[in-house]
Amino acid sequence: MQHQILLALISSFATSLFASTDITHIETQQPLVCLSFDDGPSEGTEELLDLFKRENVKATFFVMGKYVAKKPELCQRMVAEGHEIGNHSYTHPHLDKLGSIDAIRQEIESTQAIIESSAGVTPLLFRAPYLDTNADVYTVLNEHNLVSVHASRYTSDWKSNITADEVFKAATESAKAGDIILMHGWSPATREAMPRIIENLRGKGLRFVTVSEMRTLASAIKK
Ligand code: ZN
Repeated sequence: MQHQILLALISSFATSLFASTDITHIETQQPLVCLSFDDGPSEGTEELLDLFKRENVKATFFVMGKYVAKKPELCQRMVAEGHEIGNHSYTHPHLDKLGSIDAIRQEIESTQAIIESSAGVTPLLFRAPYLDTNADVYTVLNEHNLVSVHASRYTSDWKSNITADEVFKAATESAKAGDIILMHGWSPATREAMPRIIENLRGKGLRFVTVSEMRTLASAIKK
């Protein structure tokens, strides 16, 4: 019995040595907010980039390696126009069900590599497909100094019957400084709602920054 307790203690200590938490929002008094878009580059990415360019909005795109391979020029454009690219795996599997850490490593490392070769940047952020993680996922993220990002506002825009009004409400109702809003560029409802979302959040005095910019600005103020 003592042996088991000792093993449990060692295991919990080992786990605590590594970051295994997810960012859901950022503590800040500054009027900053993050728009984030998963699964690109996809149908709709260009439309979003055009809108963000006109409106001078910066966003964070969690892209999938297999789509970066098809549209590397869109990743170059994201970087050139001041957006942040995060890693969202290569094929969008349930990482916690892959069965081996090597399979998880393959998903994450191949996506880092194709983003680096396509857009010339090394992502700092990772968002797990379906937000599914386990200890092995965090181990691989730590190997690459990747931060796991979830969100404080979920729009459920992946649902097939969602309307632009519902996305707008989920993204904006009681939105506040430090929020990270999760959306998908392929969602027609999201693209339809986006001009109104920008107008509404601006009306609340919020400014659009990337997740890493918000982390940097928030920690700079604390010091
Ligand atoms: Zn996804």
